[in-house]
Amino acid sequence: MTSLDDLSAGLPAGSLRVDPEVVLGYASDTADLVQAGTACAVVTARTVEDVQHVMRWASAARVPVIPRGAGTGLSGGATAVDGALVLDLSRMDRVLEIDPSNRLAVVEPGVVNAALSLAAQEHGLMFAPDPSSWETSTIGGNIATNAGGLRCVRYGATRAAVLGLDVVLADGRLLHTGGRTAKRSAGYDLTGLFVGSEGTLGVVVGATVRLQAVPPPQVTALLTFGAARDAAAAAAAIVVSGAPPTLLELMDETTVRAVDAYRGTGFGPGVRAVLIAQVDEVPGAADLLEAAARAHGATDVALTTDLAEARELLDIRRSALPAKQQLGRTLVEDVCVPVSRLADLIEQVEQISRETGVVVSCVAHAGDGNAHPVLIVPEAADGEAQVWAAADRIFTAALELGGTVSGEHGIGRLKRRWLADEVGDTSLEVQRGIKAAFDPLGILNPGAVL
Ligand SMILES: Cc1cc2nc3c(=O)[nH]c(=O)nc-3n(C[C@H](O)[C@H](O)[C@H](O)COP(=O)(O)OP(=O)(O)OC[C@H]3O[C@@H](n4cnc5c(N)ncnc54)[C@H](O)[C@@H]3O)c2cc1C
Repeated sequence: MTSLDDLSAGLPAGSLRVDPEVVLGYASDTADLVQAGTACAVVTARTVEDVQHVMRWASAARVPVIPRGAGTGLSGGATAVDGALVLDLSRMDRVLEIDPSNRLAVVEPGVVNAALSLAAQEHGLMFAPDPSSWETSTIGGNIATNAGGLRCVRYGATRAAVLGLDVVLADGRLLHTGGRTAKRSAGYDLTGLFVGSEGTLGVVVGATVRLQAVPPPQVTALLTFGAARDAAAAAAAIVVSGAPPTLLELMDETTVRAVDAYRGTGFGPGVRAVLIAQVDEVPGAADLLEAAARAHGATDVALTTDLAEARELLDIRRSALPAKQQLGRTLVEDVCVPVSRLADLIEQVEQISRETGVVVSCVAHAGDGNAHPVLIVPEAADGEAQVWAAADRIFTAALELGGTVSGEHGIGRLKRRWLADEVGDTSLEVQRGIKAAFDPLGILNPGAVL
């Protein structure tokens, strides 16, 4: 029961692949600076039973398992370790049910976020979590990382959208958590625990998720500023302005220039920071938004209700990361602070960039205080060391401002060494105890998070 032949015997033909080139293709996620190990094989699961068989085999053989969705993760959570089996969930990709009466959907883990949105749209509904990777990332990956997105400022991150889960445990047992009710107060919240657990506690094989009514028509605002600090201060003011935004995104000057070079945006040289905001198209909302922005130095305010123009602006924001990846190898960071401290964080990031000489640009889900400083690895031999030194200062700044080292990407393998700084020894000890309870053999995504 411990050889790859035993594993293969319990799976449909073609599920197990050992060709080194194929295996290499599943070795990394989208984080640039994580060293991938050499996995022994890849299993592409198509059913819950496939996953159960894999976990029973892995427990018997003591082989580490790396659950994997689309591999768009930015923290090395789906990066292989030596000897591991990569468990590819991307082909469990059926939307099993849309229930408009209860505003929920039941899905397999490999459903791509955009596919669920499309299925929900036919019923006038939407799946609110919308990471910029929504056209490629999977619901299983979104759940495992507690992914955020542009609409989080109104609807919360993925955890707020998950009602129940089916999870295959390390020993192959199938666990059901939560369910279809809007409220539930029975026992420990295992659903909440699995959300954000990055494949270290179990393999998500099914999810019951909350859908939202599509919001009323929106006014989209493009607000320009002479400094990123002003844009961040305006964002904090907009959040409490009485016109609650459905999204509120910030791009600093380096980002604006990178996106312009990547796809052409027409932003003039005087534009040093941009906020893109949406509010419901109700009387007075756009006026409140504009007043809050102008009070914090907005140099230009353009409003539109045209859907195509709004989509173009959001596409510009969503292309920020690919645009910056053209500038070199990147470390994509994900710090989050209370929204009123975002301006301070952005100012400190700019200062760290000046002092270290490492190019750092920021996009931010500004309404959540969640900034993505993207650090470009210098060409020098010690380029990676320079980037980590700058990142270390950014993490420290975020923690000192009352924030976190990860708002939505997770800890993965990239940020493990900073987790203790944030949560402290007692929390780490409790978290290790939880891990041991679910995964006593330590075979589920070892090296990620803890
Ligand atoms: C261009 C771009 C833009 C992005 N924008 C955002 C953004 O706006 N917001 C955001 O939050 N993230 C963003 N990300 C990061 C990434 O897309 C998210 O973390 C996403 O949730 C990962 O989904 P995935 O299917 O690719 O998962 P993977 O990368 O395959 O895996 C991520 C983690 O989840 C675990 N996992 C995957 N599936 C399962 C499962 N079924 N059961 C248990 N564990 C599992 C893996 O082990 C790993 O730890 C972006 C990435 C890119 C490349």
